[in-house]
Parts: sequence; structure tokens; C-alpha cells
Amino acid sequence: LFAAVEMAPRDPILGLNEQFNADTNPAKVNLGVGVYYDDKGKLPLLRCVAEAEALMQAAAKPRGYLPIDGIAAYDKAVQGLVFGADSAVLAEGRVATVQALGGTGGLKIGADFLKRLNPNAQVLISDPSWENHRALFTNAGFAVATYPYYDAAQRGINFEAMLAALQAAAAGTIVVLHACCHNPTGYDLSPAQWSQVVDTVKARGLVAFLDMAYQGFGEGIAEDGAVIQQCLAAGLDFFVSTSFSKSFSLYGERVGALSVVCGSSAEAGKVLSQLKIVIRTNYSNPPTHGAQVVAHVLSTPALRAMWEEELAGMRVRIREMRQALVAELKAAGVSQDLSFVTRQKGMFSYSGLSAAQMQRLRSEFGVYGVDSGRICVAALNSRNLKSVAAAMAAVIKG
Ligand code: PMP
Repeated sequence: LFAAVEMAPRDPILGLNEQFNADTNPAKVNLGVGVYYDDKGKLPLLRCVAEAEALMQAAAKPRGYLPIDGIAAYDKAVQGLVFGADSAVLAEGRVATVQALGGTGGLKIGADFLKRLNPNAQVLISDPSWENHRALFTNAGFAVATYPYYDAAQRGINFEAMLAALQAAAAGTIVVLHACCHNPTGYDLSPAQWSQVVDTVKARGLVAFLDMAYQGFGEGIAEDGAVIQQCLAAGLDFFVSTSFSKSFSLYGERVGALSVVCGSSAEAGKVLSQLKIVIRTNYSNPPTHGAQVVAHVLSTPALRAMWEEELAGMRVRIREMRQALVAELKAAGVSQDLSFVTRQKGMFSYSGLSAAQMQRLRSEFGVYGVDSGRICVAALNSRNLKSVAAAMAAVIKG
């Protein structure tokens, strides 16, 4: 039966982790990861999460099946966070939201639904993008192409080329957009640029699919969701996937959502019924624990305030690490303009280093990043910063 099965290619980042684990260099540092570590280099357990779990434990309940679309209070809390609790679109019942298995699950439910709705649509993702975007939409049956994004020479975004590609896209094209904290580059559009993108999506009849995996990691919860308000103001029908993996440090609980903004509450009801079929035929219904924690935190004022503070703490620490990295690189004699490092948002930085320089970082210094030049700034801390900067300076200076 399996004689013809070929070995699938390894996930490049997992391969990097294996190489890191096997490295005997005591000073090794893993910047290839896509998770936030605290200043001690540990994955944090947020206090708001621990307190919500203690409350849940004290009033432990049996675990029946959840509804197909998940915990109602969770879906409502997600809507409040993504669209604003007082948003007219919520009062009008125009948003269909379902609990999903992380942000990936939200993307996949949306992709499967879109495949039924518009099977011949093309999907456009940014160049480069989170690698799973391409794989996920391809596996859902779509032809996936890219729109220009990263501009290596400018250390930023090639916005004119991005806009031109969107203007040239056929009506119905699904455009996957990183709402904030672009993975892998760290470069986000300005509000004025977003406005042009939203106008183009509207004028060309494109379908915006916003991937919001890092809300609160860039500038703040509302600031990072600003593009959502622009889409609402333009009257678009659009998709938003949400992930709480990073913002709640709940990676392994698989807590996310998909929201679809529709033209009327009647449409939203029909869309919800279709999303439920996608879920029902994939995994029937979602798990309870993580979503219950998030719903609890978001809807309990004291816990919510605690979460916002803890999230701000993660955001500020990342920003401090960016500034400190620049300062250390300068102190180590790197003379080139490094201001791009502090212009970038979120966990990642496209360092501008070549594949050869990234390989040298690994082999000579035990500093592991991705060959594209991507490093995880959220894995820097006050103990490893100096050695990482010294290693980077050495390979930059040649
Ligand atoms: N989208 C982007 C841009 C991401 O970076 C990630 C996670 N690395 C996801 C989606 C998936 O998030 P989750 O782990 O919640 O599935």
C-alpha cells in the first residue's frame, strides 16, 4: 500500500531546531523559533492565564462536546477584540465568528469555505510570507501566487509594486494580508498605505483575508487592529483569522478563530451555517480548555486588565531588545544604518544578512536564525544579547 509513498520535505525551521539541539556549543542561541521568550529565556505562563485556570479548576465542570462553532462567550469576546465591542457591524449581527484550532485553523476553515464559494479564485500571498500560507491555500485547492512585498535594497516594503499587483488582480482574487507584525520581515504598512490597499481591494472586487496572528505585539491592541476598522469603514465583506498563541502564550492549546464580515445578518447566518459544515466534516467541534481560559480573561475586567498589562510587557520587551541590539551592533563597530531594526514590528526581524552570513553565524558562533536572514527578536534577552550582537557584527564586518 505504501510502497509508492515518497518522503515529504522536512519543515526547514524544525530542521534548524534539530541542528540547534545537536550543537554542543555552550553559548548557542536559537533565534530561529517563532515564539516569545521572556528575559530569562523561558516561555511565559501569563499570570492572567494561571488565575483564570485556578478559577476554572475551583469550579471544575464536566467536559461535554462544545457546539460546532465553539464557546459562544469566546466567539463574542473575539469579536469585541477584533472589531471593537461597540462596533456597528456587531450590533447589526453581520459577523460570523467560529472558534478555531489556532490561527492556522482559522485560515484553513476560511480557505475551505472559500474553495466551495469561489473554486477558481486565485490566492495572492505576500513575497515573502509565513510559509504555511502557501501550503495551506494550495492544499485547500487554490492556485497560489505572490504580490511583491519585501524590498531588500530599501530595507522596507516595495509598496508601489505591491499596489500595482493588487490593481492588476482579477476580481474575486483572495488577498492574504498580514494585519500587523508581518512574518517574516517585520515591516508593516503605514495607515496611509493600508488605506490605499483597502481602496484597491474595494475598487477591484478582491477578497481580503486578514491574518492577525500578533495583535498587541506591534503597537497595541487597537493600533494593531486599525486595518480592520479601515475595512469596516470601506464597507468590505472580508475574513479575519485570529490567533491567541502568542498574545496569550497559549501555543499548545490551539486557540484561534475565524470571523467573516458579511453584508447583512441574514448573510452572516448562512455563512455561519457553511463554516459549521467545514468544521463538522474536519474535526466535528473544537476543544474546551484554551478557549475557556481566553473567554474568561477577556470577559473578566480584572483579568483583562492584567492581560493587557502582560501583553504590553511582552511588546515593550521586544522593542527594548530591538534598541539594545542596534546599540550593541554599533558598539561592536557596525557602521551601516541599522534604523530598520527598530522600524520593524513584532517578533521577527529581517536582519538583511545573507544565507552565507546566517550559516556562518551558526557554524562559528552557535547563533541560529533562518537562512532568509530572519531572526526572532523575542528570543533575545539580557544574557544572550551581547554574544549575539558580537557574532552578528563579526559576520557583517566579514
Ligand atoms: N499566521 C502567521 C503570520 C503566523 O506567524 C502564525 C504562527 N507562527 C500563524 C498564522 C499561526 O498561528 P497558530 O500557531 O495560532 O496556528
